[in-house]
Amino acid sequence: MPSRILTGVVVSAPLALLLLASCNAPLSQEPEVRLALINGNIVTVDSLLPYAEALAVAGDTILAVGSTADIVALSGPNTRIIDLEGKLAIPGFIEGHGHYMGLGEAKRILDLTQVKSWEEIVAMVEEAAAGVDPGTWITGRGWHQEKWDSVPEGSVEGVPTHHELSAASPDNPVLLGHASGHAAFANAAAMHAAGVSPETPSPSGGEIIRDARGELTGLFRETAEDLVAAALAKSRDRMTDAERDAEAREQARLAAEECLENGITSFHDAGVSFATVRFYEQLANEGALPVRLYVMIRANAEDLAENLADHRMVGYGNNHLSVRSVKRSIDGALGSHGAWLLAPYRDKPESVGLQTVDSDEVTRTADISLAHGFQVSIHAIGDAANREVLDIFERAYGQAGKGANLRWRIEHAQHLSGADISRFGSLGVIASMQGVHATSDGPWVYKRLGAERAEEGAYVWQKLWQSGAVVTNGTDAPVEDVDPIASYFSTVTRLLADSTTFFEDQRLTRQQALESYTINNAYAAFEEDLKGSLTMGKLADIVVLSQDILSIPAEEIRETEVLYTIVGGDVRYEKGE
Ligand SMILES: [Zn+2]
Repeated sequence: MPSRILTGVVVSAPLALLLLASCNAPLSQEPEVRLALINGNIVTVDSLLPYAEALAVAGDTILAVGSTADIVALSGPNTRIIDLEGKLAIPGFIEGHGHYMGLGEAKRILDLTQVKSWEEIVAMVEEAAAGVDPGTWITGRGWHQEKWDSVPEGSVEGVPTHHELSAASPDNPVLLGHASGHAAFANAAAMHAAGVSPETPSPSGGEIIRDARGELTGLFRETAEDLVAAALAKSRDRMTDAERDAEAREQARLAAEECLENGITSFHDAGVSFATVRFYEQLANEGALPVRLYVMIRANAEDLAENLADHRMVGYGNNHLSVRSVKRSIDGALGSHGAWLLAPYRDKPESVGLQTVDSDEVTRTADISLAHGFQVSIHAIGDAANREVLDIFERAYGQAGKGANLRWRIEHAQHLSGADISRFGSLGVIASMQGVHATSDGPWVYKRLGAERAEEGAYVWQKLWQSGAVVTNGTDAPVEDVDPIASYFSTVTRLLADSTTFFEDQRLTRQQALESYTINNAYAAFEEDLKGSLTMGKLADIVVLSQDILSIPAEEIRETEVLYTIVGGDVRYEKGE
């Protein structure tokens, strides 16, 4: 929402003038320019100076933005000059909602995101089992039955039963996460290790799926997944601390590498433990966080009350780590029928989905966060879930009083009742959305909701934007590929794989989509004075792309490559390096 967002840009105007004035000062007083980008097509996302040819970096910030001649004049013998040859430079992408360690972990386990059939999954697991000792867990993630060419006969609720998988991996427990992150599939050995039998009751907020005879199918929805995940966690108890630390470091390294290759300079990590916050702090101390992290802590209200005060960090490690947000979920996902709806699913009329955390607990979380100066970020996908969270936020905002500047967020905000859309803007609640989800989910949204409800409130970015809400962007990686270009493409086209368009009128413009991925994500982290635009005095976080994604034909956007990723003036990724 421009007026609120632009506050940061306006505030920085005196700074810009100050720096411009310093350019006329004697040479000896000028900060050394260590990096200059010249001859570029620089789109700044700063309305005071939207376009420029060149910029100069001193220290970790932008010293000046202007013409190539101006910037060359500022350069010295130690300046690295990069001739952009007309290429597009924009503020570094900020991933607005992802899972950093999960992104690294996804690089280490079976990647099931591209598989086209259940048989393929069984074959991958069989091959993995052949390469490890009996008893070793085999894990994978990213499968989605709606992406398969066909579903085997005898499937229950659209998902196969475990027997074929169990036969292919009799001696190894197997746990395979659903692409949504809201269900998992286990083989017989894993269910045995978890002590789950056909008689085990479904836990609250989850479901153990059984066939018509009451036998386990292998599918665990929402909190039921924890039963098997706990057995997996237990199997890791014998790892030494050093092994654990090495594994975590490898995950963090892989995540950083993946981000930098994709032009991502900051990352909103949507839900980590207190222990992970300490781990990030350690990495920041070592200068081992090349991508800036904005971290949400995920814990129950009791733990939050006890520990929040000791874990708040803003701009730690030279602006590489901020921890000032709390993450909770109130429902599941649409794909797995876990999103909490006001009316039953069209393709599962007996169900309105699941409220996974009760409202009192979410309210307690809000109160504790308010008391400790933490932002609240709640995962809500269904229209009932979104309404409930808006009600809880409305009450808290009232308590905090006018001018509290809370910027609380609803993560995903995927399906809204028409009556609730304008509440985001009027309350000042951020719609933390993921462009790519709309086109991934599009094919089955009609099945789940029916056309009428889908049109009213499913993935309604433009309606939200027009009603004054701040709309952010991201990928929920590793749920989706972390690639911001793919999510940008989805955001501006809403083009599905079958070449149809999913509610075209809800596309964002190219410029809006760019803002959603830069300044709006910065705003959602209280960082719009630091990043999100290429403005003098802000951090020199920049990405250079092979094509101008603001003007090329839409069908060419996905071919765009990242040429340079620059964080704090350091070139962290260079294509062809
Ligand atoms: Zn997420």
